[in-house]
Amino acid sequence: MFMLAPDCDRDERRSKAEEPNSAVSAEPARQRKILHIDMDAFYASVEQRDAPELRGKPVAVGGSRERGVVAAASYEARKFGVHSAMPSVTAKRKCPDLIFVKPRFDVYKAVSLQIRAIFAQYTPVIEPLSLDEAYLDVTENLKGIASATQIAEEIRAKIRTKTGLTASAGVSYNKFLAKLASDYRKPDGPLRHHPENGTRLCRDVACRKIPRCRASDNGENEPARNRDGARSAGADLALPSRALR
Ligand SMILES: [Mg+2]
Repeated sequence: MFMLAPDCDRDERRSKAEEPNSAVSAEPARQRKILHIDMDAFYASVEQRDAPELRGKPVAVGGSRERGVVAAASYEARKFGVHSAMPSVTAKRKCPDLIFVKPRFDVYKAVSLQIRAIFAQYTPVIEPLSLDEAYLDVTENLKGIASATQIAEEIRAKIRTKTGLTASAGVSYNKFLAKLASDYRKPDGPLRHHPENGTRLCRDVACRKIPRCRASDNGENEPARNRDGARSAGADLALPSRALR
C-alpha cells in the first residue's frame, strides 16, 4: 500500500479560526480519509488461484480468436507488454507462450461480493468502480479506528485470508490521490509513507497513470506531447503558458 499526505491520519484538530481562507487551498478545509482498494490483476489472479498449473505463467483472460480482446493479464504476461483491452492477436504476438483462459464472470462476481462484505465491516460509504475496486470513505468508520492506514492494512489482510488474493490500497484525503496511490506500489503494495505530499506526486506522475487520461493502444486518445509515455503530469507546469493554448 502506498499513502499520500502522511498527515491524513491525523486527528482533525484544526479549529475554524485556523482554517485557510483561500479558495484554492491545497487541502480541503475538512480533511477526509479516503481509501482506494484495488484487486491485483483481478480476473487473471482468480484464474491462477483456481488452476495451480497457471501460476507463474503468462495468462490472459479473454478470447484467443481473431477478434478476441484481453480482459485481464497476469503480471507474468504484463512483462511482455500484454495488457487489458489489447486485441488478442497483438497479445499473442507480444507473448507467444501466452495462455488464454475463458472468463468466468460468475466466479468474479462472487469474489466481488466477498470483498464488498469486508468493506462493509468498516464503512457504509462505499463507491464501487467495478467488480474489483472501490473507494471507501473511512473518515467516520464503524469500528472507530482513527488510522485510515490501519483500516487499509486490515482490509488487505482480510481479503487475502478470505479470497486467497492480493489487493493494493491507497490512502489519501481525496479519491484522485487515493487512486494514484493504490497504483503506485502494485501488486500487493506494502505499506509506504511517502515523504512528500500529494502535490509532489501529481507533478511527477506519468500522464498515462491519471484516470481517463490513458492512451488507447495506438495512442489515438492521448495528446501528442504525452505519447512518449515518459511525460509527467507536472511537465505541463513548466511549459510557457502560450504552449498550452
Ligand atoms: Mg484491479
